[in-house]
Amino acid sequence: MPTYQRPPGTLDILPEDQPYWSRVRTHAIHLAELAGFERLDTPMFEATEVFARSIGQGTDVVEKEMYTFLDQGGRDLTLRPEFTAGVVRAYIENGLYVEVSPQKLFSIGPTFRYDRPQAGRYRQFTQFNAEILGEQDPAADLEIMTLVWDLYARLGLADLEFQLNSTGCPRCRPAYVEGLRAYYEDHSDHICDDCQRRLEQSPLRVLDCKAEACQPLLERAPRIQNHLCEECAQHFADLREGLDLLERRYVLNHRLVRGLDYYTKTVFEVWAAGIGAQSALCGGGRYDGLVGLLGGPETPGVGVAVGLERIVILMKELGVEPSAPRTPEVFLAYLGEAPRRRSLMLMDELRRGDVGVYLAMGRERGLRSQLREADKRAARYTVILGEVELERGKATVRDMKAGDQADVDLSLLVTWLRERVG
Ligand code: AMP
Repeated sequence: MPTYQRPPGTLDILPEDQPYWSRVRTHAIHLAELAGFERLDTPMFEATEVFARSIGQGTDVVEKEMYTFLDQGGRDLTLRPEFTAGVVRAYIENGLYVEVSPQKLFSIGPTFRYDRPQAGRYRQFTQFNAEILGEQDPAADLEIMTLVWDLYARLGLADLEFQLNSTGCPRCRPAYVEGLRAYYEDHSDHICDDCQRRLEQSPLRVLDCKAEACQPLLERAPRIQNHLCEECAQHFADLREGLDLLERRYVLNHRLVRGLDYYTKTVFEVWAAGIGAQSALCGGGRYDGLVGLLGGPETPGVGVAVGLERIVILMKELGVEPSAPRTPEVFLAYLGEAPRRRSLMLMDELRRGDVGVYLAMGRERGLRSQLREADKRAARYTVILGEVELERGKATVRDMKAGDQADVDLSLLVTWLRERVG
């Protein structure tokens, strides 16, 4: 057992896993830019109030999962448990609402939640996040959903579908919530303790209760889709029409309500089997009241958060191979002091010419050990420089794959290698 271990719920992403990560990040950034999203980086921590207000008191995230601390100046700060709150704070603080509208913003980076660690669930995890601020049109919801769909498709995750629901707006939701409460009150001896509490604090959350006892009741519970106001119903219909048109599959899930308070109208997730108990690959939706709630001008918004660890888990399970990262094509081996100095200069020249190089290290090292290293590192060519070769102004270059070797003029070596390794 090593003396120090990483904290529970955190990961070391080792070099062997990095190709998966760079593939995911590269595609996410590429697709976001292709759709006109611009990158926004916000701090990893914010005033606690930013999250408490937007995510909502009484949610699991705010009540149980935040990494909150006082800094040396006595400020109450929290490591971001999600991106949206900080993005909206930055949107208001930097006056992005006077720029071209809508603002399409994306971010990528670590998020922190004091969750119970298990497969696919960590305390530090990575999100790719996209938001469209300043647009009511369901076309914005559609763009957000298309973006994540395309990301999964490019990464080789097939057979996915959206879970989709509308949670209404401040105009139609209260009446629905009253109806839901009344229905539950008639059956209150058949529900779990958590739902008793939820009915008080955040009644919509009874809908995603997993307890056995609550399931029969849930089947017959009133469905919000039947209680939407005209505007919400139209928005939902338009979004579905767009999804049908673009052939992005979805199923209506009247029990989908997201764990954060700020959602209005659209909510969606993508689920996948095979990531342990954790099946949500992403979650998002519309939040038309959030900018106003955080002190900005009333501005509609819609966004999505995509968990990247879960994508990587799935890629591995499906056998999706990322391309290997570039490693140096050339290994420089040498014997003797003058060749060592000349090899240092060669290393410099080659790298400036964009040829990747490993340089053998350790003085007085035998050639055999250097060649063994070159082999392990899978360099395509090994340049061997000894006193005699140096005097003749030449180096021996061994093609490690073909096994043959050639004498190459030192003055031509960089060009010679560049031609071969491209
Ligand atoms: P949420 O806002 O909780 O819906 O999170 C959005 C996405 O982030 C989820 O769909 C997951 O892919 C990912 N995610 C959330 N919590 C965790 C966690 N504790 N560990 C890993 N990924 C997470």
